[in-house]
Amino acid sequence: MRIDIITVLPELLRSPFEHSILKRAQNKGLVEVNLIDLRDYGLGKHKQVDDYAFGGGAGMVMMIEPIANCINKLKAERSYDEIIYMTPDGETFNQQTANSLSLLKHIIILSGHYKGVDERIREHFITKEISIGDYVLSGGELPAAVVSDAIIRLIPGVLNDETSALTDSFQDNLLAPPVYTRPAEYNGWKIPDILLSGHEKNIDKWRHEKAVERTTKRRPDLLK
Ligand code: SAH
Repeated sequence: MRIDIITVLPELLRSPFEHSILKRAQNKGLVEVNLIDLRDYGLGKHKQVDDYAFGGGAGMVMMIEPIANCINKLKAERSYDEIIYMTPDGETFNQQTANSLSLLKHIIILSGHYKGVDERIREHFITKEISIGDYVLSGGELPAAVVSDAIIRLIPGVLNDETSALTDSFQDNLLAPPVYTRPAEYNGWKIPDILLSGHEKNIDKWRHEKAVERTTKRRPDLLK
């Protein structure tokens, strides 16, 4: 898979991809992440990427030309399955969307800034708009990192124990059950006996029950 992220702040995005699972995924050649500096497509001597909003009002708007030139160049090199714009008014991101995006080959993620991008970009280039929740951030970089992380960990071979993504919250409409590690007793607080029983079937059953219990209590909407 190849993810091209268009941003005016590539440095802000570098670190999340240089550690842990996301780094390993790239080292294994399972995903290629390219941070594309929109400034390189900026106009004039000052590499301008934003301008005042037509009609007035506070806040700058990202111009159509730099983004169009950047996307057109990428599209000339390969075909893209989705061109995604991160935006608070997009569809709310969830595990299901992560699952389907993880099956794609080439995607572009456009991070906005200021008041957002010229609407014509959204009308003519963008194929999917994603929000990471009902709040407004200052830029699309953190949202792009969130979406990329959720997608990349689902690519087969990325996680060491491949079943581990399958037992995460939301994967089967259930929240994950509680987990414990050593010591088995701390400060008089013991872990559930069943986890020490060595009886795999009973442990699976217990975990399932706990997952249902937790989901019923915290997110009954998932069980519908
Ligand atoms: N004026 C816009 C918000 C712009 S915020 C509005 O009211 O909808 C600046 C940029 O941050 C956006 O272009 C978008 O790329 C990113 N952004 C902010 N909040 C986001 C969210 N919840 N999900 C995804 N992207 C977001």
